[in-house]
Amino acid sequence: MDHHLSPELEELRRTVEEFAHEVVAPKIGDFYERHEFPYEIVREMGRMGLFGLPFPEEYGGMGGDYLALGIALEELARVDSSVAITLEAGVSLGAMPIHLFGTEAQKEEWLPRLCSGEMLGAFGLTEPDGGSDAGATRTTARLDESTNEWVINGSKCFITNSGTDITGLVTVTAVTDRTPEGKPLISSIIVPSGTPGFTVAAPYSKVGWNASDTRELSFSDVRVPAENLLGELGRGYAQFLRILDEGRIAISALATGLAQGCVDESVKYAKERHAFGRPIGANQAIQFKIADMEMKAHTARLAWRDAASRLVSGEPFKKEAALAKLYSSTIAVDNARDATQIHGGYGFMNEYPVARMWRDSKILEIGEGTSEVQRMLIARELGLAG
Ligand SMILES: Cc1cc2nc3c(=O)[nH]c(=O)nc-3n(C[C@H](O)[C@H](O)[C@H](O)COP(=O)(O)OP(=O)(O)OC[C@H]3O[C@@H](n4cnc5c(N)ncnc54)[C@H](O)[C@@H]3O)c2cc1C
Repeated sequence: MDHHLSPELEELRRTVEEFAHEVVAPKIGDFYERHEFPYEIVREMGRMGLFGLPFPEEYGGMGGDYLALGIALEELARVDSSVAITLEAGVSLGAMPIHLFGTEAQKEEWLPRLCSGEMLGAFGLTEPDGGSDAGATRTTARLDESTNEWVINGSKCFITNSGTDITGLVTVTAVTDRTPEGKPLISSIIVPSGTPGFTVAAPYSKVGWNASDTRELSFSDVRVPAENLLGELGRGYAQFLRILDEGRIAISALATGLAQGCVDESVKYAKERHAFGRPIGANQAIQFKIADMEMKAHTARLAWRDAASRLVSGEPFKKEAALAKLYSSTIAVDNARDATQIHGGYGFMNEYPVARMWRDSKILEIGEGTSEVQRMLIARELGLAG
């Protein structure tokens, strides 16, 4: 892995860094406090081409790759994770399944609007009775041959970007058949927003990511055309495993950004805040804490970039993506805790970015595969499957 960014990627990094500091930072705290989706910021991210970063230009994308996406996510999350997860879910979960598994007609129909950020897509895998154990999917889709439509019934929970004013579709996983042994065969189906019978609940009240959209969805005899099947019938399980493998790299870049943001804020505060007649940063205890935070953020960056480089060059990357996700989410929580400690009482006040980072860090050990699931994947890759 070449650890130097190409001039194009360095330019992208600088552009997003500037945007995060000049546009996101001054406004996001208010959106977060009001639990409001930041449409104006997301629109601007769309205009910058961020939602199209890893997609081909023929569909309105920027012709980049997962490394480019990770760079953008890291810089956004250095300042705020709600906007970063909106981008991550819009790209990795909303548009990527259509790009990887869609027919030409599906790509032409959806990708240009998803790439421009004018529309958001979502991916509904998790259900009230099963997140880590996706094989426990209960949502069903039955093909009504008389009308050539899928009839979908069930529910999904915790789905990011699924209920905004600009959400255009949710790709849902559903059991479409069973093997003779009774094992479910899962398929992915595109459900456009507004389809009769498809209900989106009010946003959850969350601990963090408060300016991002997360909802519960229900499907009651929802009918969509047979051609809304995404990819091969019965291959939905394999498809979403691939989507999640890639998504872990994106979440890892986001977690690295949060961890680095904690360093940025802590260095600044340690120089400004005085106690016992000198800056708190003059104390070795504070210096060592920040040095350790920097070490962890740096190592997490190497891990996600290594996994992204492997993905981009077509090498196996499953284990490296799981390692990167596990490590970066763990140290994001560590750094958020330490940054809050360095800020003392102010670290517990929502007006300080580190308070937001602390609240936003925990979900990184849960979403797109918990830390336990990452350990299971790593152990399996080491040949330890039970
Ligand atoms: C804010 C937010 C946004 C999300 N966005 C999306 C989205 O857009 N789309 C989507 O589909 N999902 C989304 N999710 C769901 C998320 O991916 C799941 O919450 C996650 O995968 C864990 O599933 P679960 O909540 O059902 O926990 P469970 O699977 O019930 O796990 C509970 C605990 O048990 C542990 N556990 C489970 N099985 C084992 C085992 N075999 N060995 C050891 N430990 C085990 C888990 O690691 C965890 O600690 C989101 C969640 C949140 C909170």
